Amino acid sequence: MRQYKLITLLIALVMLLCACGQAVDSGSSAPSSTEPSPTASAVSAQPSPDVTLSTTPIAATPESTPERTSEPSAEPAINTAKASNATGTPLSGIVIGLDPGHQAHSNSEQEPVAPGSDETKKKVSSGTQGRFTGVTEYEVNLQVGLKLKRILQDLGATVVMTRESHDVNISNSERAVMMNDAGASLVVRLHCNGSDNSDKHGAVVLIPSNNCTAAINDASKEAGKCIIKAFVDATGAKDLGLQPRSDQTGFNWSTVPVCNIEMGYMTNEQEDKLLIKDDYQDLCAHGIANGIADYFG
Ligand SMILES: [Zn+2]
Repeated sequence: MRQYKLITLLIALVMLLCACGQAVDSGSSAPSSTEPSPTASAVSAQPSPDVTLSTTPIAATPESTPERTSEPSAEPAINTAKASNATGTPLSGIVIGLDPGHQAHSNSEQEPVAPGSDETKKKVSSGTQGRFTGVTEYEVNLQVGLKLKRILQDLGATVVMTRESHDVNISNSERAVMMNDAGASLVVRLHCNGSDNSDKHGAVVLIPSNNCTAAINDASKEAGKCIIKAFVDATGAKDLGLQPRSDQTGFNWSTVPVCNIEMGYMTNEQEDKLLIKDDYQDLCAHGIANGIADYFG
């Protein structure tokens, strides 16, 4: 009986020792289990820039994220190269107006297409939308506009914008008058294109050609030439050249040189997906900035 008790005691001792061994193991594994957590927090920290970049498009986030990780540094490298075109403060003392086209809600009230004209158009149309990403044009226009603003300021310009949020209600004639009143030396209206033909792609710059804008037509054309050239150089987009227009309210009310860049077709799969990407928007903004600097250079 006593022997039996002894054996039981021994077994209990062995079990105790085993338990201690496990405790040591789990102790030593504790640091390794904390290791993943920094990595995990690093991983979870990575998406946060993405979230801020694509604040808007929910549909865009899943697509743009994998693409960005699969082609990490190729585009920013090009970007830096292009950005270096304009250096110093060549735009010092110059007022540049930027008009990111459209707004969150269109306004179908009418306004004259030109001062004194009987012909009217919608105050603000809804703009186009990514056929593949679902992202709206007004979002892309402002994203590029804000990037362009910072670049132009770095080049010494004073930048005035018609809007810096989506929740505004400013008609096209009002936008033009805002820029006139601000004494802008050049106004760039930022837009994206749309077409029923999804093959259609490329960038085009619209320029005023109405009789009522005779005083600014030549200068606007010169600016347009510089901007389309620098834009396609920076982005690799197809050059669709200049398109003179007499029907644009935003041109006809302008008393200062103005042009309108259609940065690409949101109805074309490749351009739609590019235009919502932060890296590509950087290229767009740098291209336009280079064009503006060339015009004033
Ligand atoms: Zn537009």
